[in-house]
Amino acid sequence: MRTTNLGFPRIGSKRELKKAVERYWKGTLDEAQLLAEAKEIRLSNWTLQKENQIDIIPSNDFSLYDQVLDLAFTVGAIPQRFKTLQQQGNLSTIDLYFAMARGFQKNGLDVKALSMKKWFDTNYHYIVPEFTKDQDFSLFSSKVINEFKEALAIGIKTKPVLIGPVTFLLLGKAKNDDFNCLDLLDKLLPVYADLLNELNKLGAEYVQFDEPCLALDSSPIIRKKIITAYNYFAQKTPKLKLFLANYFDCYGDNLSTVLQLPIHALHVDVTRCGEQINDIFSTEDIPTTLHFSVGTIDGRNIWKNDYKKSLQTLSTVINKVGKERIYIAPSCSLLHVPCDLNLETETSKINQNILPWLSFATQKLAELSTLKQLILSNDYLNEESYIINQNTLQKRSESTIIHQPKVKERVHQLTLKDAQRNHIFKTRKILQTAALDLPLYPTTTIGSFPQTKEVRQWRAAFKKGNLSAQEYQSKLEEETKRTISLQEEIGLDVLVHGEFERNDMVEYFGEQLDGFTFSSFGWVQSYGSRCVKPPIIFGDVSRSNPMTVAWTKYAQNCTDKHVKGMLTGPVTILQWSFVRDDQPRSETCTQIALAIRDEVLDLESACIKIIQIDEPAIREGLPLRTADWSAYLQWAVNAFKVSSCGVKDETQIHTHMCYSEFNDIIKSIADLDADVITIECSRSQMDLLNAFSSFNYPNDIGPGIYDIHSPRVPSKYEMVDLIDKAKRHIPAEQLWVNPDCGLKTRDWPETKKALEKMVEAAVTARKLF
Ligand code: GLN
Ligand code: ZN
Repeated sequence: MRTTNLGFPRIGSKRELKKAVERYWKGTLDEAQLLAEAKEIRLSNWTLQKENQIDIIPSNDFSLYDQVLDLAFTVGAIPQRFKTLQQQGNLSTIDLYFAMARGFQKNGLDVKALSMKKWFDTNYHYIVPEFTKDQDFSLFSSKVINEFKEALAIGIKTKPVLIGPVTFLLLGKAKNDDFNCLDLLDKLLPVYADLLNELNKLGAEYVQFDEPCLALDSSPIIRKKIITAYNYFAQKTPKLKLFLANYFDCYGDNLSTVLQLPIHALHVDVTRCGEQINDIFSTEDIPTTLHFSVGTIDGRNIWKNDYKKSLQTLSTVINKVGKERIYIAPSCSLLHVPCDLNLETETSKINQNILPWLSFATQKLAELSTLKQLILSNDYLNEESYIINQNTLQKRSESTIIHQPKVKERVHQLTLKDAQRNHIFKTRKILQTAALDLPLYPTTTIGSFPQTKEVRQWRAAFKKGNLSAQEYQSKLEEETKRTISLQEEIGLDVLVHGEFERNDMVEYFGEQLDGFTFSSFGWVQSYGSRCVKPPIIFGDVSRSNPMTVAWTKYAQNCTDKHVKGMLTGPVTILQWSFVRDDQPRSETCTQIALAIRDEVLDLESACIKIIQIDEPAIREGLPLRTADWSAYLQWAVNAFKVSSCGVKDETQIHTHMCYSEFNDIIKSIADLDADVITIECSRSQMDLLNAFSSFNYPNDIGPGIYDIHSPRVPSKYEMVDLIDKAKRHIPAEQLWVNPDCGLKTRDWPETKKALEKMVEAAVTARKLF
């Protein structure tokens, strides 16, 4: 029995890679220095894993930007525009790589980056490869080989990790022609085989293929391609032992297929799908040579492993196949958790009481080898490591900082009525029209206004203690007041306070809610050099004080127009945090919903007549398999309604979502029953509204009519045209006019101009239609 890892965070425990890469982009670090820094991180990761007695350590889990881009680069899937760019701009290989990730705009050359997409149900974003119908592949980069050799040089024979060919093709985008990317498999396989061959020659023993597409809805075609690929590899390099890794969900319909593949080991994510173990062993004929990599340590969350539970799972497998055929592993790559809990010292802002309950990537390595020792011990119940682990978990489960009986009671006393407005939208609309007195095509924004360097400097100074609370407050007040006057001047109908006091739309609320804490170094890569530090929800969530009322009231006192209160919704707060694992996510979400509900009601009592509850993450919470969607949507929609439905009919509830695609969830979007939904729409030329019109979506909609992702100021006529297009889908009386999303990343001059044009467009539209 051995331990193995599927991947380690590459950003560096103090974000060394982020800093190095960004300095390279700025030109203050040269290529050699960047590569040296990268090498240091790899060496230190390998050494760390060795010290923690991981038997089979991965390589090629490192990336300067993204592992999918690395593979595209390795197999030479370089779109033509980048090849041309490289020639015209005389780019080095590494600059070509970064150009694909980030686009290139220099010396009169202007090439758009490859697009980015969320990696399955995580908050990591990968670079989407582009394939053409006549796509050719060839070994373009020897990164995989180089990193294998590099580890070999320090005495570690690694298991190179490759994204499997089927997943790779499925993640890609067909360019120009309409064709199925999977058709390219036959051309792609020989390139993989070349790599395998090379690794084999260098003495590699194992290779890990990640095929997380096996956690999605499957099809006979996908299964056929999987069979083709792995039979081909087994035939080409029979000596290499192949691991096949699927994670984030079960193998589902794919199980019988993968059990028959000529591979060495099958990885199973038991944290997401424990029943799978039973499914596997209830199948008649598991090949007698097949090994199992049992992913029992959660690679997606930060809680200490429960050894009792893990050992039970492992025993089940051992009883069936014996110790020799087992690898103990994390459920997936550790990329999705922070590097090292030891950085959270006494000076960390994290709630110190919860430290004993946590385990980051480094600690998870130790858990792996401890589990192995425990299994090998003939009396693990009396091993110190086991006893300490169980005691800690026991203390956690009984801790008074987790459990608030009042909160639990409130959740259980919720009734259907709490998640329902008093009257249907039609009735509310009449009351709201009378109460709010808004024109046709009311204009508004999504909430945030530019977070300038000054605003961020004030916050930093305030946090460091260099600016007093009072000074900070009055600076933000001035900024808010100025923003209110500006919106009045521009002629917007529904104003916002600007969100200057918020660093981040989740962190701001998390910091004020009970049951949340924040680490000091808990960074996780989001994409490229961008990292996030998700809040940690450790206990029952409640709100002791109003969180936004003072700012909203302050803004409302500056104007006679309506100021819209601005909140983040329960699903989004849940989705962008590390969530406690001792109760269902739905339960935690409902607790957050109640806290937001209290805030909504306090805003209403403070005479705020319009309240927006942002839920940009509702879609990304969808389970990987569509069969599981309805259960999720049911509790997610319910949480939103618990948060929003306590108000009077006259109070107008808005929500905002900024992703594009509503077709398959439109019924749930309608079930939210928000009076107004604002959505990102401008780049799709209002096509997104099809989902709403074919559903006869009854409530009001504000399709974004300008793209806030670029500094470009759209013309009035462009926007009039978009309003006109929107009107072809949705009756004019239902339409609002607003930008795609918040303006926090924009600068003031372009924001002001764009909003002026937007209001002019609405005024023109009112006359025209
Ligand atoms: N109210 C937030 C803002 O304007 C919404 C951000 C978002 O949708 N991601 O910034
Ligand atoms: Zn948005």
